This record gives sequence, structure tokens and C-alpha cells, in this order.
Amino acid sequence: YGKKKGKRLFIIFNDEIRIKEERRIKLTEVLKNSLEKREFYIVYQPIVELNTGKIFSIEALLRMKNEEIGEVSPAEFIPVLEETGMIKDVGYWVIKEVAKDIKEFQQKNVNINASINVDIQQLLDKDFVKTVKSIIEETGISPRNLKFEITESEAMKFPELTISVLKELSSMGLQISIDDFGTGYSSLSYLKMMPVSYIKIDRSFVSNIPSSREDNILVMTIVNLAKSFGFKTIAEGVEEKIQLLFLQEIGCDYVQGYFFSRPVSKQEILVMLKESKKFQA
Ligand code: C2E
Ligand code: MG
Ligand code: MG
Ligand code: MG
Repeated sequence: YGKKKGKRLFIIFNDEIRIKEERRIKLTEVLKNSLEKREFYIVYQPIVELNTGKIFSIEALLRMKNEEIGEVSPAEFIPVLEETGMIKDVGYWVIKEVAKDIKEFQQKNVNINASINVDIQQLLDKDFVKTVKSIIEETGISPRNLKFEITESEAMKFPELTISVLKELSSMGLQISIDDFGTGYSSLSYLKMMPVSYIKIDRSFVSNIPSSREDNILVMTIVNLAKSFGFKTIAEGVEEKIQLLFLQEIGCDYVQGYFFSRPVSKQEILVMLKESKKFQA
């Protein structure tokens, strides 16, 4: 080990990569069986109408727990599902589960619509629209009970193709949200053509208001842009009252975040909906 500091660092660096790589390989192996072993489950987070404090919608968020490796976060397993193409099967499972939950809620006299995150690979799958249609028919819910969220950066990957699929979905009566808005690179000319109802302002901007002047301006600009295009706005990741006041001030329509509720189980969200829970807003 002569001039060895550099070399040692290199070894440590290699170790880190190796450990990450091993974790990834393990996770890939585990995920292959996760559907069959019922390791996926769904939690729901309320989306609140800012002016009334009423629950306007709920977002379905995927979770995964394996007995050997424990609970894994979507930030870790979603990229693996995307890279391996497993996201399609898992994505259809999510849509079916959510449709069944909505139906069950309806049978308990609660009518609500739910937002589902859809990966671009899945949206552009040739059977996507057909499959969604059959899930809706089989469960006996209305297309109005489902909303799809697609991230801004993914929507802009193949904008023309994406617009054509979104048009089919919206003509069926489903509503579309653009998720994580502000983090991608939207072409405004494409954005204007998107048959979209909601723009979700990314948490990274919301978390800095009102202390960051730049993010205040950014959030305000997004709200105004959305308004002029005829889209409603949803602010993600609201954690503090002061953020809420700012969002109210600038005319944001809906809010979502830990300030109101973390994502909760189906049973817990049903209780909130049954009680017609009103949040402080
Ligand atoms: P997203 O769709 O932007 O979802 C919002 C994320 O922010 C969720 O993380 C939610 O738990 C979290 N969140 C909500 N309020 C707050 C808050 O006040 N503070 C903080 N710090 N976080 C908050 P989650 O559940 O870990 O999901 C991460 C991402 O994984 C999602 O981002 C979405 O892109 C993806 N994802 C989740 N479920 C699915 C799914 O079923 N299909 C696909 N394709 N992607 C999914
Ligand atoms: Mg989302
Ligand atoms: Mg988001
Ligand atoms: Mg996201």
C-alpha cells in the first residue's frame, strides 16, 4: 500500500457500489414473487379542498413488505419494477385493487374517486385503455371514480403519443393529473394540448414556502399558469399551517400532505370518509 489513500478510498467506494448492487439483485429476486405472495398493499392519502377542508379525493400509494427484507419504500422498488418491466403487471394489480376498494366503499354508502399513479411504460402499453375499461366494467364502478396521475417528466418523454392515450382515457370519463409538476421540462405547447384536469405542484417547492422567495414565486407562477390553461392545482407535501395560508392566499385549489394526514390504510380512510371528516383549512 504505497500512496495508498487514493486506493483505499477506491476500495471503500467499490464496496459501497457492491453492497448497493447486491441489494438491488436481492430486491429484484424478491419482487418477482411479490404479487403472488401478496406482499404489495395500498395505502390512501386524502386530497383536501382548500376552501372547505373537505376530502375531495384520495391518492392510492403502493407499499411492499417482504418477510426477509422487510418494508421497502416505493422510491426503491418502483425503479426496479420499471427497469424490469414488472411495473405493468403490478400497475394493473393496483388499478384492480383500487377499483375493488372503491366498489366496497360504495357498498358502504361512501362515494369517492381515487387517484392512481401510472408509469409511462404502462400508459403506453397497447392494451392499457382496453384493460382499464374492462376493470371498470368488471368491478361496476364509474370511470369518474378513477383519476390517473402521470409525472410531468414522463408525460413529456413522448408527448404526442401520451396526449393521444390521455385523450382516449378522458373521453371515457377518467380525469388526469400531471404529477410532480415543476421538476420536469414541460413544453408549454404540449402542456396546453394535454387533456388534463389537475396540476400537482411538486413537494420540493411547497416545502420551501413561504421562506424561499424564489419558491414562492415559482409556486405562484405555476398556480397562475395552471389557471390560465384551465387546470386546477393541487399542492403536494403540505406539512405546516403557514404553507397552507400561503397557498390559500395565492388561490391554490387542493392540498395534500402530512399536515392533514399521512397515507393510511383502507380501513382508516373509510372511517374518515364515513365521518365526512373536515380538516382545518
Ligand atoms: P407521488 O405520486 O408524488 O406521491 C407523493 C409522495 O409524497 C408519497 O410518497 C407520499 O407518501 C409522500 N408525501 C405525501 N405528503 C407528504 C408530506 O407532507 N411530506 C413528505 N415528506 N412526503 C409526503 P410515497 O408513497 O413514498 O411514493 C413515492 C412515489 O412512488 C410516488 O410519488 C409515485 O411517484 C411512486 N408511486 C407510489 N405508488 C405508485 C404506484 O402504484 N404506481 C407507480 N407507478 N408509482 C407509484
Ligand atoms: Mg402521485
Ligand atoms: Mg408527486
Ligand atoms: Mg413522484
